[in-house]
Amino acid sequence: MKILIIAECVATSLSPLTANAVEASKSFGATCDILLLGSKLEEATNTATSLPNVANCLIADLPALAHPIAEAYAPIIADIAKDYEVVLMSSSTQSKDLLPRIAGLLRTTPLTDVIEIIDEDTFKRPIYAGNAIQTVRYKAKTKLISIRPTAFKPQSDTSKNKASIAKINVKPPSIKTKWLKMDAPKSERPELTAANIVVSGGRGVGSQDNFKRIEALADLLGAAVGASRAAVDAGYVPNDYQVGQTGKIIAPDVYLCFGISGAIQHLAGMKESQIIIAIDKDPDAAIFKVADYGYVGDLFEVIDRIHESMSDA
Ligand code: FAD
Repeated sequence: MKILIIAECVATSLSPLTANAVEASKSFGATCDILLLGSKLEEATNTATSLPNVANCLIADLPALAHPIAEAYAPIIADIAKDYEVVLMSSSTQSKDLLPRIAGLLRTTPLTDVIEIIDEDTFKRPIYAGNAIQTVRYKAKTKLISIRPTAFKPQSDTSKNKASIAKINVKPPSIKTKWLKMDAPKSERPELTAANIVVSGGRGVGSQDNFKRIEALADLLGAAVGASRAAVDAGYVPNDYQVGQTGKIIAPDVYLCFGISGAIQHLAGMKESQIIIAIDKDPDAAIFKVADYGYVGDLFEVIDRIHESMSDA
């Protein structure tokens, strides 16, 4: 079986999400090739060649591909993808932009957000915000699949792989879209989707000022900061903090949430976390149904007590 992974690059580095797609490829019992598009890809190529299960790295390195513009990337990927039976990518903002275009060019239907590969034609994926799991029989000539990264965490593999590298010649794309600039928040904290610990706050935090106490706690624990949509909508934090159905899907080792009631749309983004610790003043809050540890009480009291106990230690 021929499997192609579409790598995701952040500037000149390989996004960690690529390793999750490679991990998923193992479920087909075959090695995979990995395709990198971008500019100045030396560092990304080095990381990609060392990923386990990768046989070949195909590199399209052009200044015109420096920015991930789907209009430019899709025809190049579609042309290479047609020689493969499975094309895999981690579910992300970029996959949502790219896969429908590639599918259109290949006249196929993509299968998105796969959480389990049962066999080469059978897949599981969540529907209704994760409240039901659908088993799908999918038999396209080229299967175009996005996987949910949290369901395919890369094994820590110490063996050193060294995939072969093939530079591919592509024509600079002639497109109407122009990249103007990237406006991304800069943060010293771990990235929300990759963090081991996430501290999240909801409407119960009460204000933008109060939310600084959630952020301070996250910094104390070396954690990323998350939020419910209500907290984002109220303007306490920017929307890239949002966890849930219409936010980020995460599965950290520890998810600590303060003043989040546990609406299904929020649970859809965090219920795969290893350990969930919830603090809410309402004993009937739905979050306690999924929490491994819960505390009914005032969230600010708890934050103060954690700070005290950590400064005593
Ligand atoms: P609330 O439900 O208002 O809960 C606040 C909690 O704080 C309460 O349980 C309260 O008891 C507690 N509290 C208040 N004060 C304190 C205190 N001092 N100490 C301790 N506890 C306190 N939501 C998301 O989060 N992510 C999504 O991606 C998302 N997508 C959505 C998509 C759609 C199509 C729709 C319709 C909704 C979506 N929502 C999403 C919104 C979701 O339905 C809820 O409205 C939202 O999650 C509620 O946020 P919350 O838990 O912070 O607020």
